[in-house]
Amino acid sequence: MLDADGVRGWMAGMAKAVDRERDRLTELDAAIGDGDHGISLQRGFTAVEAALSAASAGTPGAVLMLAGRTLVSSVGGASGPLYGSALRAMGKALADSGGADAEQVVAGLAAARDAIAALGGARGGDKTMLDAWIPAVDGFDSAVAAGEALQAAALAAAAAAEGGAEATVPLEARKGRASYLGPRSVGHLDPGAASTVLLFRALADAVQVTGG
Ligand code: ADP
Ligand code: MG
Repeated sequence: MLDADGVRGWMAGMAKAVDRERDRLTELDAAIGDGDHGISLQRGFTAVEAALSAASAGTPGAVLMLAGRTLVSSVGGASGPLYGSALRAMGKALADSGGADAEQVVAGLAAARDAIAALGGARGGDKTMLDAWIPAVDGFDSAVAAGEALQAAALAAAAAAEGGAEATVPLEARKGRASYLGPRSVGHLDPGAASTVLLFRALADAVQVTGG
């Protein structure tokens, strides 16, 4: 089960990962964007940590919706609204349940992926964060369909996100700031896909801890 503490652990793990990887994310963004991705996400997830520690326990859905709202309001770049809408959509999908089982987590993650696609208008292959989100959610879904427990499915999703992010290197960006570079965006890892890997790894870590 992914309960409210599990979601808090997930967000705390992401905040830590973004602190650790800030410079790498910013370097990736400097190559094909404006060099703010690491700084923006660090600001956003620091604000999420503050908002969550000030809020009462709640349900996983409520924690995710608060995290999402906080990202939207604290990050100026494209990634704040995209990640923020994703977390809000996942929170909404989990509704009032006190703990999400593997199927509910998959449904929530699928809603998150769809929110990113709806807001940003990108598709797989456009060299965006969706290129990590799509295989990650598919990997999660297949693992759960094959009868894997939440922990194993989350690890499969993180590995799939990593593969998807690596696969953005040869792509030409068709959405976001990197698309202004046209063919010169080829040969670089998409920063949002790289941060998506961190989000799925943090989720895998969080569910290992919470069990079930
Ligand atoms: P900005 O581009 O406004 O500076 P960030 O640097 O924080 O925002 O985030 C850049 C990342 O956001 C990109 O690497 C890409 O993964 C993602 N992104 C940008 N535009 C879109 C979009 N339309 N759809 C999906 N993801 C996008
Ligand atoms: Mg940027």
